[in-house]
Amino acid sequence: MGAGLAAVSLCASLRAGGYTGRLTVLGDEPCHPYDRPPLSKQFLAGDRGIAEIAVQPAQWYPDQGIDMRLGIPVAALDADTGRVELADGSALAADVLVLATGGRARRLTAPGSQAAMVLRTRADAEALRARLVPGARVLIAGAGLIGAEVAATATHRGCHVTLVDPNPLPMEQVLGPQAARALHAQHAAHGVTVIRGGVFAVEPGKVTLSTGDSVPADLVMAGIGIVPNVELAQDAGLDVDNGVLVDAGMRSSAPGVYAIGDIARVDGSAHRSEHWDNARRTADAAARSILGLPPEAWRAPWFWTDRYGTHLEMTGLYDPAAEAVPRGDIAAGAGSVFYVRDGRCVGAVSLDRPLDIRAAQRMIDRDVPVRAERLADEGTDLRKLLTNIRSDAPGG
Ligand SMILES: Cc1cc2nc3c(=O)[nH]c(=O)nc-3n(C[C@H](O)[C@H](O)[C@H](O)COP(=O)(O)OP(=O)(O)OC[C@H]3O[C@@H](n4cnc5c(N)ncnc54)[C@H](O)[C@@H]3O)c2cc1C
Repeated sequence: MGAGLAAVSLCASLRAGGYTGRLTVLGDEPCHPYDRPPLSKQFLAGDRGIAEIAVQPAQWYPDQGIDMRLGIPVAALDADTGRVELADGSALAADVLVLATGGRARRLTAPGSQAAMVLRTRADAEALRARLVPGARVLIAGAGLIGAEVAATATHRGCHVTLVDPNPLPMEQVLGPQAARALHAQHAAHGVTVIRGGVFAVEPGKVTLSTGDSVPADLVMAGIGIVPNVELAQDAGLDVDNGVLVDAGMRSSAPGVYAIGDIARVDGSAHRSEHWDNARRTADAAARSILGLPPEAWRAPWFWTDRYGTHLEMTGLYDPAAEAVPRGDIAAGAGSVFYVRDGRCVGAVSLDRPLDIRAAQRMIDRDVPVRAERLADEGTDLRKLLTNIRSDAPGG
């Protein structure tokens, strides 16, 4: 249920794992599944078309024997019987049900803000792109991943952008202060007006902010996060708490019902991941459970974002209690920060240095001991550090 990246990845993993039975994908969007990350980047900029962002070519689905039923929302499911009802009144039954309904864009609640655009779907991106014309005055609420990417793309398309966020340093809790500062500073450097505050009211041609400022705006866009589409799971009586609660094998509280992608939250973990790589991994984990295969070893989480021509990647987690070890000069736009705790790398963030992140992923996955001064030393070959871990142990 849900025809996004997670659903397609699940089908691919099941087929790769030898599953030859029937596969049916039910999606409410009318088109074949597409990748969402380009919606705020290359697709919004007009540099990529819809065919270039397809998760799989259209022919892949019949080739894999996948029955795609698109354009009709799932209305209800019965976890005991495996019966699924669609909004057009039709129904079908399955031995295994997988919820992959993702999330919808959170909307502003201020008066008049129903006029504000959001960005989650291809249709949203097409509508937004049509309005991002040279000279347009664009107000973006939210300087997180999506809002900031749209600010960069809108600037690239010749718009005048105002970016509003109540947080003095957006993304700090996710990336750590050094990377968040470097990233946030890019907005002003590219001519974006950055205001600390919230949207108080939206009127035709202007937005009133909580600061009292009145900002002229031809269009308002909200990038203030997503709401997971948990209603089907909730109505079916599954355990839901900021996402459908699952175990490490993506099993929900109802036998034979799984949840993957943005909608799933592994029970006991503090957060629900809303990233591309997580959709693929959780799909793979569910496929292994369904096929009765042992789970794969845990791997450090990973995501990326692109803005103003800069590529950021992050792996593991930012831990405020960890030592922040700089490598290169992240403030200058090319460098990394490794987070080291108890002699182990627990996370790393990097601007335009993806190889640092590859190395950090391996350090975390292999749980190798690391020394901060060696990580910071640009003369240290991080690959050698991994093959020569004993000599790098504290005191070694
Ligand atoms: C603009 C944008 C940019 C992004 N950029 C990045 C990035 O740079 N890096 C990164 O790591 N991640 C990025 N992401 C996040 C990434 O795209 C998501 O994590 C990923 O799409 C999650 O996949 P999913 O299949 O779980 O959910 P979705 O992609 O949301 O797919 C779920 C599908 O289920 C459908 N659905 C919902 N309810 C029903 C129902 N009742 N019946 C039938 N169908 C239903 C939805 O309409 C949707 O088509 C971005 C996301 C967006 C929106």
